[in-house]
Amino acid sequence: MKLKIDTTKSQIHVKKPLFLFVAACMILAVLFYGATSVFRTLELSQSEAKLSLYETTIENELRRLDYLPVVVADKLDVFNAVRYSPSEDLNQELLNLSRDARAEAIYIMNAQGVTIATSNFKDTPNFMGKNYGFRPYFKKAMQGQRAGLFAIGVTTLRPGYFLSAPIFDLGKPIGVAVVKLDLTSLTNTLEQTNEMIFVSNSDDVIVLSSRPVWRYRALREFTDIERKKIDKKRQFDTQDLSFLDWDVRSDNVAFLGGREFLSLEVALKAPAWTVHYLGDTSPIRERALLVVAVTAGLMALSALAFLLMRSGRLRRALSASQEDRKRLQREIEVRRQAERRLTHAQEELKRSSKLAALGQLAASVTHELGQPISAMKNYLAAEEIAGDAPQSGLGRQLSQIVVRMENITKQLRFFASDRGEDMAPVILQNVVRGALGLFKHDFEETTIKQITQMPTHDILVFGNQQRLEQVIINVIRNAIMAIEDRPKRRIMIDLSETGGKAVLSVIDTGAGLGGQTIEQLSEPFHTTRSSGVGMGLGLAISASIIQEHGGSLTAKDVQTGGAEFIITLDVLQNGS
Ligand code: ADP
Repeated sequence: MKLKIDTTKSQIHVKKPLFLFVAACMILAVLFYGATSVFRTLELSQSEAKLSLYETTIENELRRLDYLPVVVADKLDVFNAVRYSPSEDLNQELLNLSRDARAEAIYIMNAQGVTIATSNFKDTPNFMGKNYGFRPYFKKAMQGQRAGLFAIGVTTLRPGYFLSAPIFDLGKPIGVAVVKLDLTSLTNTLEQTNEMIFVSNSDDVIVLSSRPVWRYRALREFTDIERKKIDKKRQFDTQDLSFLDWDVRSDNVAFLGGREFLSLEVALKAPAWTVHYLGDTSPIRERALLVVAVTAGLMALSALAFLLMRSGRLRRALSASQEDRKRLQREIEVRRQAERRLTHAQEELKRSSKLAALGQLAASVTHELGQPISAMKNYLAAEEIAGDAPQSGLGRQLSQIVVRMENITKQLRFFASDRGEDMAPVILQNVVRGALGLFKHDFEETTIKQITQMPTHDILVFGNQQRLEQVIINVIRNAIMAIEDRPKRRIMIDLSETGGKAVLSVIDTGAGLGGQTIEQLSEPFHTTRSSGVGMGLGLAISASIIQEHGGSLTAKDVQTGGAEFIITLDVLQNGS
């Protein structure tokens, strides 16, 4: 169950960055789409403004001389020229008029379409005597209507816009007045704009454009019939009107030569032409990409800042948790020490209460046994003095038993006596010598080798000489007993002073402690000796006495075999 939860968590950890990355990509894609649409709308509104400007310019130019053919047709000498014959001055008059109006040419045609007067009479070639009866503007004018037509001139081979008006005689057209507009300046203006503009006529043929290569190209493929119809009008001289590879899609998009453009168009009121404006789409994409790149950069920077902040927070949390852990470890250590102290104190309490109980017991036992033992001693002494000692040696045996009983009560008296009594400055060397004096006989009569080393200067401690002597006697007696049946029997006693402490070491060549600790050895009644030989009270008493003196009693096995007991006491400094 736990494993399942962990797996899900780790999956979440792995998936989170992936999810954020996918989300960021989606946001950027939406942003790209939105920015493209905004920039496109902006571009379209700018293009619309430009288109409207070009529409006005083109329309103004085409309609600039709209009125002129009617004015010319209304002139009397023009009427006379068609009705009768042209006057000698008419050509010159037409020339003056065309100059004033900045028209390329003004000419008059009779009912058959033959030019009978023209402003370009001085030029070569000129229109004089030429028949333009095939032109739609002539045919329409002869039907009583005004007309306009773009065409490449069959005589001059120059493109122009022809405006015509009928010359009436009693309401019936008898001839046609024509004004040819030169479109060169309009073409030049368009070419200089550096924009992509073209104007198509009602047959979808481009008549004006800002790029010369597009001129006289068709916006769609013509059928044979359509082509024949256009050819009949002889508008475009020998131009082949090839297809421009133009494809308009919905939503202001067109493809020219396979390339995508923004496309706007507007129909002129007259003539029935359409003005096309093309806008490049690549700047829209470039600007949208720039927005996306900047946003992506900002997102990456924010992510980086977030990661840095988070790693800082994690680092701080980690160091805080490490601090907590250290504090906890310190607290645990303090508690452990307290526990150890408690255990020690409990053990001490146990030991002291044992000793206290023992003290009470010892007091009553020594009190109760004191009287009979001294009575027995007195009785045996009286018997000895009287010379009535039994021959069987019974008296001697009894004496020995009494001495042993007295020794036991003496030992017990240590527990019963008041601690801390008769404390005074004591010279340790004297204490050692006093204790050794008791074993003088053992060392002289036996093969025990005893080496004692003591400093020449007095080592002074504060304590009770008899009780300290008792401790040293206990330790030396134990050492003697330990080496009793050993081949090498040696006891080394060494007294020294270091760092304000007096250290007395007693080393023997016995069998050692067998790994037992001083705490175990100094337990009351702990003994390895046979009953009657040892009571297991010596070390208990000794440890208790040393403790009273504020010192310590330790014991350990020595490497060469045997045991070492060390008594440490505070040295009494001069004046303290
Ligand atoms: P007792 O001598 O009456 O047995 P102690 O309290 O003096 O009581 O000693 C307790 C026990 O410590 C002894 O029985 C003995 O096993 C051990 N012991 C004391 N001193 C030595 C020593 N120097 N070498 C080996 N064992 C010792």
